[in-house]
Amino acid sequence: MTLEKSKQMYEKAKTLIPGGVSSPVRAIKPYPFYTVSGNGSKIRDLDGNEYIDYCLAYGPEILGHNNPIIKKAIISQLDKGWLYGTPTELEVSLAEKIIGYYPSLEMLRFVSTGTEATMSALRLARGYTGKNKFVKIEGGFHGAHDAVLVKAGSGATTLGKPDSRGIPADFTKYTLQTPFNELETMTALVEKNREELAAVIMEPVQGNVGPILPEPGYLQEVRKLTKENDVLLIFDEVITGFRLAMGGAQEYYGVVPDMTTLGKIVGGGLPIGVFGGRSDIMEMVAPSGPVYQAGTFSGSPCSLAAGIAVLDYMKKEALHRKLNAKGDTLRKALSEIIADKGLNYSVSGIASMFKVFFGAKPKNYQDVLKCDKEAYLAFFHKMLASGIFLPPSQFETNFLSAAHTEEDLEKTLEAYKENL
Ligand SMILES: *Cc1c(COP(=O)(O)O)cnc(C)c1O
Repeated sequence: MTLEKSKQMYEKAKTLIPGGVSSPVRAIKPYPFYTVSGNGSKIRDLDGNEYIDYCLAYGPEILGHNNPIIKKAIISQLDKGWLYGTPTELEVSLAEKIIGYYPSLEMLRFVSTGTEATMSALRLARGYTGKNKFVKIEGGFHGAHDAVLVKAGSGATTLGKPDSRGIPADFTKYTLQTPFNELETMTALVEKNREELAAVIMEPVQGNVGPILPEPGYLQEVRKLTKENDVLLIFDEVITGFRLAMGGAQEYYGVVPDMTTLGKIVGGGLPIGVFGGRSDIMEMVAPSGPVYQAGTFSGSPCSLAAGIAVLDYMKKEALHRKLNAKGDTLRKALSEIIADKGLNYSVSGIASMFKVFFGAKPKNYQDVLKCDKEAYLAFFHKMLASGIFLPPSQFETNFLSAAHTEEDLEKTLEAYKENL
């Protein structure tokens, strides 16, 4: 396997784009491969190598790459133009569908990214409650805006400090942190701050250091705690929305948040974000209310058309039943490989999300940090050489798509056997 052309492209990219990439996680060391096309479960690079893809653009491509049904919907929209700056029927239609799947959403607004969705949701929570603080979970990632870049996934270890230069500590002083799956710590934090606390924002399944699953009853208890203390509960379902079930983690676990953010899958692979919730909260958003929010590309027609296509297809095919079963099979086989080898590694996951942790099964962010990152990176490169593209970090979830075949999975398990 050669990566010569990718290597040369990366040398050039580094002179033009910081770190050579458009988003940091893509900067695989020593250099990333450059993708030229994707089809079904596979992507192909500049040097002609083909990989079975378990990164899937970090979540959105639940039907695999270049899905013909989504493509058709996009092309059909392109024929009519792709940006108007006026309302369209598409947004009404997709809003109605999403609200149908998420009973906790009575109203929603479309934005262009998950980052914008959580930024707007937090502003709204603050505007609605008149309170400034919010609680996030350590290792929870909610996009790359100032208030949430504190212990946001793999980057951060420093206590209470922003993860990034350029964020005044004043901007994160309202951001409180608590570990996942530790109810006592959260209870103390919420009760102590309740007078100033607008919301708790959380990924119901931690996807950006995981997957790490909520322990039985944990989400239900968080719901109870927030309700009792008059604090809004925001589920960031940018990954889990339409991934665990049509109704996301809230359907899967039967917990009803006050507000929800969506993204990734719901745009069919085109840029999108959604925030929504109870209508008394959502009515506070401009122009019906005083919380400002706006965007040139919000409700972009091609994203909406692609979103409608993917949701309708998943519903029609009852996709999650098959896809989640595929996930169960894969996780079981991976666990067996690890047991056979006598490794002290673990397999974590749910539905079509999975990960081999190079360490004991983590319960929260602090546990994940104990995993062997260096060994994982070496393993990642071996897998790549075997034609398997996993996310390049120990801290990123792997995804399955509907396009992954039996043969793909067999080849993948062989590669795990060989390379672990
Ligand atoms: C990806 C992600 C975001 C950010 O979405 P972008 O579209 O990348 O801005 C927010 N929250 C979660 C849970 C995510 O996984």
